Amino acid sequence: MIIHSDTVIVGAGPAGCAAAYDLARAGRRVLLLDKRRFPRHKACACGLTRKTLAALRYSVEPVVERSCREIVLQQASPDADAREVRVRSRSPICAMAVRERFDAFCLDQTLVAGRNGGSVELIKIDHLLALRELPDSIALDVATESGTTTLRTAALIGADGSNGQTRRLSETLPGGAGSEADPSWYTRGFALEATVPYSELPAQLPGGDAPHDLVFDFSPLPGGYGWLFPKGEHINIGVGTFAPQTANASEKLPNTDAKRVNRDLLLTYVRQKLGIAALQHITGQYLGMGGHAYVPHGRILLVGDAAGLVDPLTGEGIHSAIVSGQAAAAAIVACEQGLHASALATAYARELRPLQEALAFSHRAATAFYNEPERGFRAMRTPMLRSLILKTYADGLPYTGLLTKLSRFAR
Ligand SMILES: Cc1cc2nc3c(=O)[nH]c(=O)nc-3n(C[C@H](O)[C@H](O)[C@H](O)COP(=O)(O)OP(=O)(O)OC[C@H]3O[C@@H](n4cnc5c(N)ncnc54)[C@H](O)[C@@H]3O)c2cc1C
Repeated sequence: MIIHSDTVIVGAGPAGCAAAYDLARAGRRVLLLDKRRFPRHKACACGLTRKTLAALRYSVEPVVERSCREIVLQQASPDADAREVRVRSRSPICAMAVRERFDAFCLDQTLVAGRNGGSVELIKIDHLLALRELPDSIALDVATESGTTTLRTAALIGADGSNGQTRRLSETLPGGAGSEADPSWYTRGFALEATVPYSELPAQLPGGDAPHDLVFDFSPLPGGYGWLFPKGEHINIGVGTFAPQTANASEKLPNTDAKRVNRDLLLTYVRQKLGIAALQHITGQYLGMGGHAYVPHGRILLVGDAAGLVDPLTGEGIHSAIVSGQAAAAAIVACEQGLHASALATAYARELRPLQEALAFSHRAATAFYNEPERGFRAMRTPMLRSLILKTYADGLPYTGLLTKLSRFAR
């Protein structure tokens, strides 16, 4: 059986839903494929910065469990006064949600947009089998419960995350590397998380934190951090490595191997911070990085983690997922039906550029910061820089250029 659609999107996470939502509002027909049934678990601390909330086309208030106006940054230091910096803001910096509910809510909004605009049809698949480039379209063979189906589309959006198949299969097409390996610009971080109900915490936390503190702690491992993200009923606690891998030997960071992020590291961290000895449910996932160097080609537009768009300084990826999904939709809408493949790729590259510039800045900042965190903490003690760093994290791009200039004073 062959099914034709204007656009096929693989992956119904934040990137895929953001693209489907805008395409539906523009009157396009979308097939949205996912291998999981929603609601589904996804390893993610689901901190939603101000820029993420601003990028969304709808309010996610119904699934926000807490709003944080203060961030606690911690590092290992022999000097007790240098171990912690608290950064406060008058308005909320980061909203806290549970990822399973956040994704289900965004998918619902997207399906509603499909009923009021073009159309969004959600299809459960088992996996992608093959991609073929035809003169005027892409053909995808997908395995479903009822057998193999071929989908034909003028534009394919790969929104299937860090382990997704679209990126790898696209490497087998003309212009790709010829194998199902990740392209050379693509790198990966890795993070593990668990949840601990407030009701199981001791009266005093052994790490000295308050149960509702939003903590980024750079002491447990080089090239990454441990975190405490306070939700409505529980703390999401985790460890991850995000620092960019770099070919430049002088910038190479020590011990940033993703294998260091393992169960033992997380358990040790949970004991140290929360005084809890055993955890029920630990989950982890890779984070797609290196996407500031991604160059779209042909009719396949990679978005979100599939395009390596996680911020290598903070590990934040939901904002990039939404913005890149919207950029892919804008590129498709800007091109006419029967569009030429290279025109589509060029339009997407143009739409994506501001995000890639911000991520290139983060890449440089992460290389500098994770090589010498103490210097970053020194910068954080300068009130003007502290305020800019906070605004860059919370609000994004408008502040990155200014921060670059001012950071010279902190050296
Ligand atoms: C432990 C951890 C904590 C994190 N915390 C934060 C945080 O606090 N804030 C933040 O902004 N970011 C965080 N991130 C990053 C964030 O989770 C990702 O950047 C974000 O989920 C990317 O969205 P996406 O839509 O690109 O991919 P995903 O959210 O991974 O969605 C991909 C979708 O594709 C589907 N899929 C995969 N393969 C296939 C296939 N072959 N066929 C069909 N469907 C497929 C999956 O089922 C999934 O629904 C964290 C990541 C980790 C691992």
